[in-house]
Amino acid sequence: MTVGSSCMLADRARSSARVRLERIDQHCFIAYGSSGEYLVDLREMSCECPDFRYRCGPGDIPCKHLIAALRENNQWDAYLAGLQRGPAS
Ligand SMILES: [Zn+2]
Repeated sequence: MTVGSSCMLADRARSSARVRLERIDQHCFIAYGSSGEYLVDLREMSCECPDFRYRCGPGDIPCKHLIAALRENNQWDAYLAGLQRGPAS
């Protein structure tokens, strides 16, 4: 992970505070952002927003909706710890 992506991650983590979530089940949420509402799935680590589809690939940094959902499920710290460990080798 580069310095650039960790700055972006910090930005998104801040933006995620403004995302409102509605829980569907243990892993799925509807996220209401400033630009629409999107389905977030923590099992797939996916989100329907354009930001996620066009800018976040697998293993890339998550969008603010995913971050908000991870926080809601108390999985954010574990997710960050995983990033800092880097890919398993
Ligand atoms: Zn999103």
